[in-house]
Formats: sequence, C-alpha cells, structure tokens
Amino acid sequence: MLFDTHCHLYDAAYDADRSAVLERARAAGVGRMLCPATDRQTSEACVELARHYDGIYAAVGIHPQEANRVQPGDIEAIRRLAEQEPSVVAIGEVGLDYHYDTPARDVQKDVFVKMIQLALSLDLPIDIHDREAHGDTMEILRQYGKGLRGVFHCYSGSLEMTTELIRMGFYFGFTGTVVFPNSKRAKQVASRIPMDRILIETDSPYLTPPPYRGSRNEPAYVRYVAEEIARLRGLDADCVIRKTAANGLRIFGIAETV
Ligand SMILES: [Zn+2]
Repeated sequence: MLFDTHCHLYDAAYDADRSAVLERARAAGVGRMLCPATDRQTSEACVELARHYDGIYAAVGIHPQEANRVQPGDIEAIRRLAEQEPSVVAIGEVGLDYHYDTPARDVQKDVFVKMIQLALSLDLPIDIHDREAHGDTMEILRQYGKGLRGVFHCYSGSLEMTTELIRMGFYFGFTGTVVFPNSKRAKQVASRIPMDRILIETDSPYLTPPPYRGSRNEPAYVRYVAEEIARLRGLDADCVIRKTAANGLRIFGIAETV
C-alpha cells in the first residue's frame, strides 16, 4: 500500500473529476491519503472529504501564506474540528514561507506559534511547510516545540538539519521534486536520511513528477516518488513503498487496517 501523506484533494483542480482521481489512486495502490488544509475553509473541506471517502485523513490548520487572512474565531473553529472529527490526524499545513514578501514575517511567526501550541495541546503531530525559512523555523521549534512531533512536508533542508529534527521527533516528506533530474540536494538528502523517517507525498495538484511534469498532479503519481527514492538508495521499490507507508501510519497514529 502507498500512503500519499500530502495531497490537496479539495482543490478546485479536481472539481470536475474528483471521484475518478480517487479511483485512479486506489487502482494505483494508494490506500491512504492525508489532505492538508491552508485555512479554516479548507480545513472544513478536508474533513468533509475524509467523511465521504475511505482512506482519506485530514490535517487542519493555517498555512503561512494565509496568516494575514485569519478571522476572529478561525483558530477556535479549527480546534473544534480537530477535537471532534476522528479523521483529523495532524495540524497542518503550517509554518513559514519567506519566498514572497507577504504576509509579514512577524504575522507568519505568530500564527505558526499558535499552531504549534494547538498541536501540543491536542497531542497531534504537526505538518510543517518551511520554504526558504529554515533558520526561523528551527528557532521557533527550539523555543516552542518541546514535546512536539511531526513532519516536514516537501523537505528542503540540509542533511545536518535532519540530525536535529530527528532528535526532536520529526519525519521528512519527499515530493515529485526529488524525481526532477536537477534536484541534486533533495536526492542526496533522500538517499541518506534513516529509512524509518521518510514519507512520500505528491503535494497534488502541484509538483507533478516526470513523466507527467507540466500537467496536474494526483495521488496515483506518488509511486514515482517511491521509485526514485528506491533507485537512489539501491532498494526495491516495494520495500520503499512498504516502509514509507508504515512510517506515515506511525507518525499520524493511523491504524493499519480500516
Ligand atoms: Zn501543500
């Protein structure tokens, strides 16, 4: 069984054919999918999808790019979803994104800290988006993240950074970017992190791996990520598929059978 640990299944890109996309995922052996939110509305949408389809789980939270649009009551609403819905297995995706100038860094940091506190108070793992913000992300985790566990989705940090994160209790998600021929660093990191900390994900509908690059991504393509990691590590693809699924079930606390 493949576990796509990060796919935005509520995205409008799937409005015309969502059931067919999920059917193709199933046919490709993807037995579990984690749908991460970016704000209150998408948190509700993830939960709604998890209610309707077997094998879908939700992460609820506020993405750094949405940090300046948080309305009063949003965080409380997200907390209630996490408390009441059994499909919610993580707080995410949350973190810092310094690729763009907005939202202001202080606003992003403030929301990130609140999301960490939410995860800690609910005893849930956290699904972190860290784009061009390694220093501040680590700083905040050191300061506020005692006892926290979770995942760095689409991991882009160094091998050195993984050492500290592994001690803290983190796992590392790899997307289609690891398949791109020019992703030297991601390939190096993915070939050397302990196998029991690696997750695979598509980040659908984004980051489509070859051979489908340029078109919409979907969970069925998560196999290409597993195959590339297997190639990099000199392992059997089935072995990578099995181990990454087991890692995903373990960090998100999902039972092996439904
Ligand atoms: Zn994402």
